[in-house]
Amino acid sequence: APVVDQNIEDPASRVLSQVFGHVSFRGPQQTVIEHVIAGFDALVLMPTGGGKSLCYQVPALVLDGVAVVVSPLIALMHQQVEHLLRLGVPAASLDSSQSGQDNFQTEQALLRGDVKILYVSPERLSGQRLPGLLDRVQLSLFAIDEAHCVSQWGHDFRPEYMTLSMLGRRWPDVPRLALTASATEATAQEIIARLGLPEARVFRTSFDRPNLDYRIVAKDDVRRQLVRFIQEINHTGHDPASGIVYCASRARTEQIASWLRDSGLTALAYHAGLDNADRQTRQRQFISQPGCVMVATIAFGMGIDKPDVRFVAHVDVPRSMEGYFQETGRAGRDGQAAVAWMCWGLDDVARASRPSDQQQSQQRLLVQQQAYEEMLAFCASSTCRRQTLLAHFGEAIAPCGHCDNCLAGSPDMDVTIAAQKLLSAVYRLWRERGQRFGASHLIDILRGRKTRRVEEFDHRTLSVFGIGCDWSVRQWRRLLLQLVAERFLVMDDEGYRTLALTDASVPVLKSQRRIFMRAADLGG
Ligand code: ADP
Ligand code: ZN
Repeated sequence: APVVDQNIEDPASRVLSQVFGHVSFRGPQQTVIEHVIAGFDALVLMPTGGGKSLCYQVPALVLDGVAVVVSPLIALMHQQVEHLLRLGVPAASLDSSQSGQDNFQTEQALLRGDVKILYVSPERLSGQRLPGLLDRVQLSLFAIDEAHCVSQWGHDFRPEYMTLSMLGRRWPDVPRLALTASATEATAQEIIARLGLPEARVFRTSFDRPNLDYRIVAKDDVRRQLVRFIQEINHTGHDPASGIVYCASRARTEQIASWLRDSGLTALAYHAGLDNADRQTRQRQFISQPGCVMVATIAFGMGIDKPDVRFVAHVDVPRSMEGYFQETGRAGRDGQAAVAWMCWGLDDVARASRPSDQQQSQQRLLVQQQAYEEMLAFCASSTCRRQTLLAHFGEAIAPCGHCDNCLAGSPDMDVTIAAQKLLSAVYRLWRERGQRFGASHLIDILRGRKTRRVEEFDHRTLSVFGIGCDWSVRQWRRLLLQLVAERFLVMDDEGYRTLALTDASVPVLKSQRRIFMRAADLGG
């Protein structure tokens, strides 16, 4: 360590420079650290990459005794322990992936006072053995990482986190620090309530990621669009860019990774169905090989420390704004320009009516559905992406000026008449024939195409047949997507994805409400 450090009076600053090699604290780190060292509870809300770890690692090294860190992911724990050991900090973890022998040795070291930072899974703390051991040692603090896992309405709910409220009852004198990168005001309140932290001081930093650019496009031909996007990113830099492509299913990660490889890119698939060794190898390759694209389910990302990820692409719409924020937040952690790109379409809208997991309470399903609908509205919206995203986290900002929507300007084209044609077609089919159809057939009717199905159902005799021949299929699909996302139409996901009117469509049909889109989005 540099000699000058000897002169630093403040023990926290000394640890920061001598152990971690950093010059100064970032954001609220110093205040949080002083607060915890003084023995108080805290809740820290900081975006991914904001520097949450130091908030408990520094006090752990300043205070006497052992700090216990609760973490939901074993891989993440191991990574942190390895990192700390490299820095010369006596750290260890107790988890189910280790042998009984390893865990036994860690327990012995703990009892000897040879561990300063102990990472544990929440299951361990709700068992009998670990709490008994902790009663026998001096504790400096509890850190509860990824604290939003306690939120029943959140996207990462872990039932074991619910038992962590016992920490305050069993060890009332040990300060507790909850940390998360995923907190709306409601989640923050839920963490405080469920972990029993009513006295905790809340530290919040801005969730804005100024170096991230948000872009959302309507799905047309995903494969071509994705490849073109990545090539465009590669053209702007000197080297091929590293990036992550998120998909909704395992099968899709494999399919898309192979598309990308066929286009000459280096791409790997990653999902929870791969065995451990495979996952490790691919993760390492992604981190070390420049220009590698990881095509993954959300199983990938937590705890991946790769600062130079140049883009995060979503080819399926994530389930919530929190998920989107967290996943896109993995781009540009080095502070250099990075892009969050997403492609959305009717298949994403159709998924809105399909529950992700049948094993859930009605209330939880409803919350999930609302969260997903908010995501779709975000896709369909033409206001500043950053503004909408931050508003979700309770932050008000002016339009950013450089997201796709800011650059494209306001919707300039009145498409009310086209919308009326489309809605009328749905209405006529239902009123006159008692039929419901999906997007493709509706568009065939509007464009006056004499397809087999049109003949079969005698749809040439409908008054709406051919009234939309001035628009291309692509234009109609884009308008339809907008109308469904804004709930002027609903799409049924049972089988045929048929379309039906909603109450909101009535004022449009009666010309009491006008619909605007951007000419550029509708294309020629
Ligand atoms: P989080 O847990 O909030 O996602 P981390 O604690 O992993 O973030 O920190 C993100 C990165 O920022 C790490 O590489 C870390 O070393 C670095 N970092 C954190 N605090 C500081 C600081 N005060 N000065 C310099 N680098 C820091
Ligand atoms: Zn903007």
